[in-house]
Amino acid sequence: MRIDIITCLPRLLESPFSDSILNRAQQKGLVAVAIHDLREYTTNKHRTTDDYAFGGGAGMVMMIEPIDNCITKLKSERPYDDIIYMSPDGELLTQPLANELSLKKNLILLCGHYKGVDERVREHLITREISIGNYVLSGGELAAAVVADSVIRLLPGVLNDETSALSDSFQDGLVAPPVYTRPAEYKGWKVPDVLLSGHEAKISQWKYEKSLERTKARRPGLLDGN
Ligand code: SAH
Repeated sequence: MRIDIITCLPRLLESPFSDSILNRAQQKGLVAVAIHDLREYTTNKHRTTDDYAFGGGAGMVMMIEPIDNCITKLKSERPYDDIIYMSPDGELLTQPLANELSLKKNLILLCGHYKGVDERVREHLITREISIGNYVLSGGELAAAVVADSVIRLLPGVLNDETSALSDSFQDGLVAPPVYTRPAEYKGWKVPDVLLSGHEAKISQWKYEKSLERTKARRPGLLDGN
């Protein structure tokens, strides 16, 4: 899989991809992440990527031309399954959406900044819009990193234990059960006996019951398919 991220602030995207699981996934060749600096696609001499809003109002707007130049260049190099604009009013990121995106081959994630992008970008250049939640961030970079992380960890071979992503919250319509590690007792706080019993069937049953209990308490909507 390949993910191209278009941004006017590339430095914001350096660290999320240079450590731990996301870095290893790239080292293993399971995903290629390329960051594109919009300033490289400007034609004006100050290399600006934003301008004042027509009609007035506070806040700058990202110009269409550098975005078009960058997307056109990328599209000339390979076909893309989706060109996604990160937007607070887009389709909400959920586990099923991350699962769906993990099956794609090439994706572009476009990060807005300031007041967002010229509306004509949304009308003509992109194929989809994704939001990471009903709140507003200052830029799309963190949101793009969230989308990329949720997708990359699902690619086969990225997590050491192949079953690990499948046993995470939301994958089976339930949230995850509690987890514990050593020591078995700390300050008198004990790990549930069943987890130390070595009895596989009882442990699975306990995990399922805890998942169900937590889902009822915290995300009851999941049980009705929401
Ligand atoms: N004026 C816009 C907000 C712009 S925020 C509005 O009211 O809708 C600047 C940029 O941050 C956006 O263009 C978008 O790319 C990104 N962004 C902000 N919140 C986001 C969210 N919840 N999900 C995804 N991207 C977000």
